[in-house]
Amino acid sequence: MSDVAVFEGVGKTYPGGVAAVREVDLRIGYGELVAVVGPSGSGKSSMLHLMGTLDRPSAGRVTIDGHAVAELSDREVSALRAQRIGFVFQQFHLAVGTPVLDTVADGAVYAGVPLRERRRRAAAALERVGLARRTHHLPHQLSGGERQRVAIARAVIGEPVLLLADEPTGNLDSAAGAAVLALLRELHAAGTTVVVITHDRAMAATFDRRVEMRDGRIVADSGPAPRPPRPVTAAGSDR
Ligand code: ADP
Ligand code: MG
Repeated sequence: MSDVAVFEGVGKTYPGGVAAVREVDLRIGYGELVAVVGPSGSGKSSMLHLMGTLDRPSAGRVTIDGHAVAELSDREVSALRAQRIGFVFQQFHLAVGTPVLDTVADGAVYAGVPLRERRRRAAAALERVGLARRTHHLPHQLSGGERQRVAIARAVIGEPVLLLADEPTGNLDSAAGAAVLALLRELHAAGTTVVVITHDRAMAATFDRRVEMRDGRIVADSGPAPRPPRPVTAAGSDR
């Protein structure tokens, strides 16, 4: 199994008749780093919601991490989402008045992990995003860039295979945006599949793969980057 997300003839028409996604065919392999670009209203967020199993398509077939989403119950879909998918949004969605350590620890609630262990993992995730010294801060005591890094820590604490980010730098100045982008790249380098929506063409140009949407359709896809063979972890060297 080499694709983490497969869309086959996928459409999404909202009540009221807006066809936000039309006849989309797309395959994203494990470990890819993909930018989804296109003008406002072209269906990028709708497509990401389908990929994140936050929504079900009105046509076609979505397969995530080997699971045909249509064949899963709501409960199974929730479990798939909680265990395999992480989300980062333009608005950071951090709870007012909750220390960042607890916000991040909440990202692992599904796993039935005891609070103590969740806090330990949260501290590790915050360290990973460069916020080891902010664990007891409240959201309003952080800059926008720091808040987004908290949101990323929360998204990755469960070690998702698929990280979906919808305009993650949209509310940030360019320096903070660059730091968030660098962090997403690090997570990708560590093995996570990362799909980022952006309408920033300059930012998109730095991605290996760009998928371009217009009026609900994919109008261009630079395709999977040729992947170098994985470095052989020398079997036999473990004497
Ligand atoms: P993008 O993220 O590229 O800006 P969206 O996926 O948000 O595009 O929106 C695509 C189209 O679908 C737009 O015309 C938008 O107004 C419409 N749309 C998005 N979400 C909904 C919804 N929940 N209900 C009805 N229409 C929606
Ligand atoms: Mg959008």
